[in-house]
Amino acid sequence: MHKKYDFLIVGAGLYGAVFAHEVNKAGKTCLILDKRNHIGGNVYTEKVADIQVHRYGAHIFHTSNTEIWRYVNQFAEFNRFTNSPLANYKGELYNLPFNMNTFNKMWGVITPEEARQKIEQQRRDSYVESPRTLEEQAINLVGSDIYETLIRGYTEKQWGRPCHELPAFIIRRLPVRFTYDNNYFNDPYQGIPNGGYTAMVEKMIEGIEVRLEADYLADKVYWDNVAKQIVYTGPIDAYFSFRYGVLAYRSLTFDNELLEIDNYQGNAVVNYTDRETPYTRIIEHKHFEFGTQPQTLITREYSVEWKRGDEPYYPINDELNSILYAKYKQLADAEQHVIFGGRLGEYKYYDMDKVIASALLRVKEVLNEM
Ligand code: UDP
Repeated sequence: MHKKYDFLIVGAGLYGAVFAHEVNKAGKTCLILDKRNHIGGNVYTEKVADIQVHRYGAHIFHTSNTEIWRYVNQFAEFNRFTNSPLANYKGELYNLPFNMNTFNKMWGVITPEEARQKIEQQRRDSYVESPRTLEEQAINLVGSDIYETLIRGYTEKQWGRPCHELPAFIIRRLPVRFTYDNNYFNDPYQGIPNGGYTAMVEKMIEGIEVRLEADYLADKVYWDNVAKQIVYTGPIDAYFSFRYGVLAYRSLTFDNELLEIDNYQGNAVVNYTDRETPYTRIIEHKHFEFGTQPQTLITREYSVEWKRGDEPYYPINDELNSILYAKYKQLADAEQHVIFGGRLGEYKYYDMDKVIASALLRVKEVLNEM
């Protein structure tokens, strides 16, 4: 049977958009499907009161990969936004990531040497040679005061599990530095695309056919017949009808408020690190773009246990889920003409630059094989 397209790309998020862009550039035909009514996946931004709102949580592009930085700059101009979140712990503000400003506020220390000594003192009793849990790793890195004030409550809210049951790697995402530098990321390149992520993704898929509100899995047999190869970026367990069970995620809910003031919190991101405040953070979107609009839109972000039908956000990479994923991965590898990619397709806590890098690598291989 004649198949109309070379590729059917399921999901118009970053992985799908990069893949589509590359195959289109190589002269192949493709169709993009998305079951939502918009493109962009979770990086989708939408204008409200002239402010670009990050509808599925804040996305700050950062990378240390020059090639990826050049790549995204083809599709958008990036502003000079540098993420410097604040932590609000019971009304006290601390700078993040953990740096000399944080240590100064916490202990009154002035020099890096004093800060090191303080941390050394605090972890002396509980130092673990090779930390396995987030709790052990956190105390090793910054001592117990910071763990109790800035990490424990936030992490337990975000993941819905105690820190001694969470993997250490989650906290290794955060820099610890002994300079007065509030930049949340160590990467040399960082920014927000001017005009929002949606415009960037639009540019990536310019000239490519897109069908929105089209659910691939609901009509799989039909869609499988339209293209020679499928690029599937949806949840891997859903593809296999949850045959081995359901992979767990954390989900988020957002409570948006448009305020008749021009500045609510003076910063794009404020984390609420105590256990009692029900939300994890408040995002004030205009500050991602140095906005000067008369109004402001804020989003309180709540982390919730995911159940089937909710939006999946963070894969839970604990032992049980990793084993389950490995079983699905085996099925995926055996699946002919289907490429699994992206955060949901690979069940991976991916940053945006890593998703793009992974799509570029895969598409190159696939095109070479054709
Ligand atoms: N984290 C924390 N306190 C904070 C911010 C982050 O303890 O104020 C920890 C928490 O365990 C979180 C992890 O660092 O899960 C990674 O945070 P990041 O900001 O990278 O998460 P994302 O922005 O991807 O949600």
